[in-house]
Amino acid sequence: MSSIIEPFDQPLASTTEWDSPMFRLAQQQFLQAAEIMQLDENIRDRLLFPQRTLMVSFPCRRDDYRNVETVFGYRVQHVLTMGPTKGGIRYHQDVNLGEVSALAMWMTWKCALMHLPFGGAKGGVRIDPTKLSRTEIQRLTRRYTMEIISMIGPDKDIPAPDLGTNAQVMAWIMDTYSQQVGYSVPEIVTGKPVVLGGSLGRTEATGRGLVYLIVEAAQHIGLRLKQCTAVVQGFGNVGSNAARFLAEQGVRLIGVSDVSGGIYNPEGLDVNALHDYVAQHGSLAGYPHAESISNSDLLELECDILVPAAVQNQITQENAPRLQCKILAEGANGPTTLEADRILQERGIFVLPDVLGNAGGVTVSYFEWVQDTQNFTWTLEEINDRLHKVMVGAFQRTLLRSQRDKLDMRTAALIEGIERVASAKLLRGLFP
Ligand code: NAD
Repeated sequence: MSSIIEPFDQPLASTTEWDSPMFRLAQQQFLQAAEIMQLDENIRDRLLFPQRTLMVSFPCRRDDYRNVETVFGYRVQHVLTMGPTKGGIRYHQDVNLGEVSALAMWMTWKCALMHLPFGGAKGGVRIDPTKLSRTEIQRLTRRYTMEIISMIGPDKDIPAPDLGTNAQVMAWIMDTYSQQVGYSVPEIVTGKPVVLGGSLGRTEATGRGLVYLIVEAAQHIGLRLKQCTAVVQGFGNVGSNAARFLAEQGVRLIGVSDVSGGIYNPEGLDVNALHDYVAQHGSLAGYPHAESISNSDLLELECDILVPAAVQNQITQENAPRLQCKILAEGANGPTTLEADRILQERGIFVLPDVLGNAGGVTVSYFEWVQDTQNFTWTLEEINDRLHKVMVGAFQRTLLRSQRDKLDMRTAALIEGIERVASAKLLRGLFP
C-alpha cells in the first residue's frame, strides 16, 4: 500500500521557545552552511534545535541568612549522537535559554571539527558572580549541580568552566556529584584543579590553542609575528593567557580591556605586570603605565591581531568597517554578528572563527577526561604537543576546505563540523 503522507503543517518546535539574538545567530550560521553543503533536509531540521533542554529555578541563600534569591539555571544538550555531551557552565547576569542553546550548538560543531568524540552541551546560571561572595558562589554551585544532576554524568554529559566560572567551581561540582554517588568521580567535570584529577595545561589551553592558530594564520598571510601588534578584549582566562602566549611569540601587546574598561600603550604593555596587577586589584582599572580607552574604541585600534576574548556580539555591522586588524582571532564565543562577518570578508580580514579559535579548551578538556577515565596522567609536554597537533590539523582542514570551495573560514569550519555530525546521524539510523 502506498499513499502520500502529508508533512506536519507546522513545525512542532516554535523558535520562540529558545529565541534570543545569540540563538538566532547560531541558527542562521548553521542554515547558511547547511544550504551551501546541501544538507539533507531531515538532518537539517534535527540539528536546528537542541535535543534536550533543562530549565530550573532554585533558591540561593545569601550570606546574611535573611535573604533567599530565586535563581534561574539551564543545561542544554544539542546533539546526543556523537558520544557523551560536553560543554561549559557560564555564570553571567545575561544568561538565558537561547544563549545557552546557541553555545551548545557551537560546541557540537567545535567538537566535530576537532574530531573529539562528544556532542555539544552548555549550562548556565543567570547571576552576576562578581556580586557574590565565595561562600555564596559555593552554595549556588552545589544547588545548581543537584538541580541538573539527572542530566550530567561522566558517560553522559561532562561540564567545564566558561565565562564567570573557574577550576574552583568545577571542584565544587565534582565534590557535590561525588557526595551523591558515594565515591570520587573526577571525570564528571573537566577544568578542575590538578590535585583533583585536573589536567596540566587545561587552565591556559584555550589561550594557548588560539595562539597556535595565530602562528599558522600569520604564516599563511605572510605576517612576521615579531613585528606584529595585538589588542585583546577581555582579560580573564582566555584573554590573559592569549596575551601571555602572544608576548612569548614576540608580539607587542598594545591594548587590553576587561569589564572595567580598556588600557592602551602604543609602546607595548608588560603582560606579566598586567597579570600581577589584576591578581592584586581584581581588574585592570587604574593600571598606571597606560592611557585608558573604552572597550568600543579598543576594538578599532590599529593592530595586526585583534582577539575578542570577553562576551558575544562585539563586532557588528556598525564597527566592522572600522576594524584595523589583519587577523581577527576569536577567543570568545559568538563575538561577530552575521552582518559583520560579511563586511570582514569583503575587507579581506583573516578570521579565525570561534568554533576553531577557542577549541583548545575543549581539546585539553578531552585530554583531561581521557586521563581521568584511564587513571593515567600525561606530562605537560605531551599535552601541549597533542594540543598543537589537533589545533594545526583542524586549521589545515578548515583552510583547505575554504580554499577548495571558496568559502570564508567560518563557513568552512562549520561545514567541517556539520558534515561529520550529519554522517554520524545517518549511520546510526532512526530509532525506532
Ligand atoms: P572569564 O570570566 O575568565 O573572563 C572574562 C573576561 O571578560 C574578564 O576579564 C571580564 O572582565 C571581561 N568582560 C566581561 N564582560 C565584558 C565586556 N562587556 N566588555 C569587555 N570585557 C568584558 O571568562 P573566559 O573563560 O575567559 O571566557 C571568555 C570568552 O571565551 C567567553 O565567550 C567564553 O565562552 C569563551 N570561551 C572560554 C573557554 C574557557 O576555556 N574558559 C573556552 C572556550 C571559549
